[in-house]
Amino acid sequence: MSALILGHKNPDSDSIVSAIVCADLYKRRGLDVVPAAQGKPAPETAFILERFGLEAPEVVTSVAGRDVYLVDFSDKAQAPADIDQANLKGIVDHHKLGDVTSTSPVECIIWTVGCSNTILKAMYDYMGFEIPKNLAGAMLCAILSDTVIFKSPTTTDLDRAAAEALAKIAGIDDIEALGMELFTAKSAVSGCTLRSLIFRDFKDFHMNGSKVGVGQLELVSLDIVADIKADLEAELAKVKSEEGRHTAMLLLTDIMKEGSELLIVSDDPARVLEGFGKTYEEGKHAFLEGVMSRKKQVVPALEAAFRK
Ligand code: MG
Ligand code: MG
Ligand code: MG
Repeated sequence: MSALILGHKNPDSDSIVSAIVCADLYKRRGLDVVPAAQGKPAPETAFILERFGLEAPEVVTSVAGRDVYLVDFSDKAQAPADIDQANLKGIVDHHKLGDVTSTSPVECIIWTVGCSNTILKAMYDYMGFEIPKNLAGAMLCAILSDTVIFKSPTTTDLDRAAAEALAKIAGIDDIEALGMELFTAKSAVSGCTLRSLIFRDFKDFHMNGSKVGVGQLELVSLDIVADIKADLEAELAKVKSEEGRHTAMLLLTDIMKEGSELLIVSDDPARVLEGFGKTYEEGKHAFLEGVMSRKKQVVPALEAAFRK
């Protein structure tokens, strides 16, 4: 059976495009692989796949007995429940090192850049393969998505350089305009259930024995969710009560104003908010200037708060 190239739970554009692109690269190397995803594409990802004529990867939720390469994550909490019964072959990622392990040698490429597709671009170059035009366009979109059009503090010069090179291959002149199209597609909330909005980009973390779920909605304006904020909070309370979570959070990120509002339901909200330098009263619905990245700003603040 072919090895799976698998992105994280609640797949974002980077995890789905990475799986497709990594499968193309590894096939060129002569490996027998297929891209896979732990869910269907969200609206932004659907926009990218449609725009560049790509198929959504097969949805896979069980990996026991399979050879597996992970892309865009290495945390067990973001893997299928039976990940320990899979044979880990490799990782391409740009997050904190997770807790997966392997029984045989693995190929891991982990870089502190803004997007897994920036790493994959460098891998094509290093291994001497050409990137197909349509994949270059999708990779560019994944970089724009993960770096929030280069505004996220996770953005590096390598991401900007990769984006420019990929735009050239894809024949795209206006990178910023493509970024705005992308985030307009990403901001779609009408017709979506509250639950699907919370889980659109949601990750669970284990912090000092507590399960903490953090969702993020990146929007071109917070006005888009003004009318449903209270309902989102009520639904978030349900999410918190499930799967033994200590805390459930939803970051409402305004990509134009470059900051986030936090919705928090927690067994210990004061401790969580302390992580962001706020008291409970201040913190409720406060706008956190400059906070855009879950990975670089929110998770480290939470980890510090839960270590105390
Ligand atoms: Mg991701
Ligand atoms: Mg990513
Ligand atoms: Mg993201």
